[in-house]
Amino acid sequence: MRKKQFKTQSKKMLDMMINSIYTHKEIFLRELISNGSDAIDKRHFRSLTDTSLGLDLSAYKIHIETDKENRILTVSDNGCGMGEKELEENLGTIAKSGSLDFKSENESEEIDIIGQFGVGFYSAFMVADRITIVSKSLDSEQAFKWESEGVDGYTIEPCEKEDVGTTITLHIKEDTENENYSVFLEESKIRELVKKYSDYIRYPITMMTEQRVEKEDEAEDAEPEFETVETTLNSMVPLWKRDAKEVSEEEYNRFYHEKFYDFEDPLAVIHTKFEGTSNCNILLFIPKKAPFDYYTKDFEKGLQLYSSGVMIMEKCADLLPDYFSFVKGVVDSADLSLNISRETLQHDHQLKVIAKAVERKIKAELKKILRNDREKYDAFFEQFGRQMKYAIYASYGMQKDALIDLIEFKSSAEKKYTTLEEYVTRMPESQTAIYYAGGKTVDKIDMLPQTQAVTGKGIEVLYFTEDVDEFTVTMLGNYKEKPFKNVSDNDLDISTEEEKEQIKKENDDAKSLLAFMKEKLGDKVAEVQFTNTLDSHPVCLSTEGGISTEMQKVLEAQPGMEQAIKAKTVLEINVNHPVAEKLKALYGTDDVKLEAYTKILYSQACLICGLPIENPTELSNLVCELM
Ligand code: ADP
Repeated sequence: MRKKQFKTQSKKMLDMMINSIYTHKEIFLRELISNGSDAIDKRHFRSLTDTSLGLDLSAYKIHIETDKENRILTVSDNGCGMGEKELEENLGTIAKSGSLDFKSENESEEIDIIGQFGVGFYSAFMVADRITIVSKSLDSEQAFKWESEGVDGYTIEPCEKEDVGTTITLHIKEDTENENYSVFLEESKIRELVKKYSDYIRYPITMMTEQRVEKEDEAEDAEPEFETVETTLNSMVPLWKRDAKEVSEEEYNRFYHEKFYDFEDPLAVIHTKFEGTSNCNILLFIPKKAPFDYYTKDFEKGLQLYSSGVMIMEKCADLLPDYFSFVKGVVDSADLSLNISRETLQHDHQLKVIAKAVERKIKAELKKILRNDREKYDAFFEQFGRQMKYAIYASYGMQKDALIDLIEFKSSAEKKYTTLEEYVTRMPESQTAIYYAGGKTVDKIDMLPQTQAVTGKGIEVLYFTEDVDEFTVTMLGNYKEKPFKNVSDNDLDISTEEEKEQIKKENDDAKSLLAFMKEKLGDKVAEVQFTNTLDSHPVCLSTEGGISTEMQKVLEAQPGMEQAIKAKTVLEINVNHPVAEKLKALYGTDDVKLEAYTKILYSQACLICGLPIENPTELSNLVCELM
């Protein structure tokens, strides 16, 4: 029969397996068992809508057999099975594992992949030199046999098999100087491995074992008698149903890696029982890093939903609010009907109650981390904070109460993250507003004249480096009755009465000069003003009203919003800067030069706050003329 070739990626993976120096070769059993369990899940799932396909729930199992003499280990399941095409597609190519990036040929990383992730079926080649799979699919009368001795390919041919399901036969490698493969034929080893890795698989993992026959009136010295009986090796209690006190961190981590395909350990685990009108087990994980598609529309939120240990939905979105969409986990409730549909679930009262509990638990956990391990919280917020801020904005502030205590901003006080509560607590009594400044990075914001004007007075400023920040606080309006104020706001309220008086007089005296300048700039600005809050900086652009220049930039970047509402800008000129004297002197003596100065100053102000220069050529010519 013609041998078929593995796809390149699979070949690489196989090669890695066969020549692996990985010490935990034993994980292959876990992988095969978990495939079997998945296959049973699939069959059961399909039988929910077509009862002719399923078995009695108690009949599902994964059975292990060993034959020491022939060095054979078999793992069989009565799950959904695979047809010819599936054998070809699933085992000839790496499916999920293929999405792993195998760029690196680095050995230690290879080990990491195997250890943390598991690599599925192929791992069996770490211990076997020949693998035969006989499988009969739910959808076909004909069974097929897949066979391979490793890298040089595999064969598929029709064969006999009575029942639906899959039997995987491993021909275990001969022992070598360094490696004892024979242990995988020992009952005790298999028991140990099942306990260690697959105890919570919810179908029985069975094996024929020798058991002593108990006799009632046995004489003390009677020869013990043995019989072989089918024994269930696993306790079948899913991890989430176990008592949280009895589950080790390692067990949680391993479960998380395997179930949610994350290399990293979770940042936090929430494991709890919810006892309301009904009982429900909840096991949630907060990841350390946002998945690569998290901030795209491809990302699907949701928790796995089980009813009494049987999965009924892979991603139940209704269990998670959008602002906690990063959470992964399992919810298992005894009271949900097994064949409930997506549509009816949405209206399920029970589910709503559970969703509330889930939300409460996540919030409490995040608050706990915020309180007890700030560094950890900040790292979390760096990854997922944006989503929470966005939720406040997108819900028109309706989610404010749920989230306000959980959001943070970087602040000029020590350049660290701060909550609004912390900011307000630090505020001196005389301070009337919460000040913030927007820009691409903290350093850029620090360079803004307006930021320096405010921090120069000893006032703390929040750095809004994300486009969503300012929109979020605009939605909030205020926090603890303190309004939010952009440092670019025209009406900053950081000057003393005396300073306010002084600048008012300056502006009144220069009324016609300023009007002239405003006229030359047309509708680019709403006004031109002198200011005395700018320290040594000559100019800046401030804004009037609800839209800042930062918001304008965000809005303009949206498709179709190029003509969006513009910020109402005011060109502010430092009255204490020599340039102010120059302007006053030019007014009425050299209008042409005054106009040029005005345009240059305006362009400079635009540059400083990161707005585009409308006419760079004109600016360049004007500067050269003056030179
Ligand atoms: P993974 O399980 O991570 O997807 P595997 O390489 O272990 O990767 O398996 C590839 C695919 O082969 C599985 O996704 C599944 O569709 C199929 N498969 C493997 N083992 C079985 C089995 N015992 N019964 C039915 N299908 C199986």
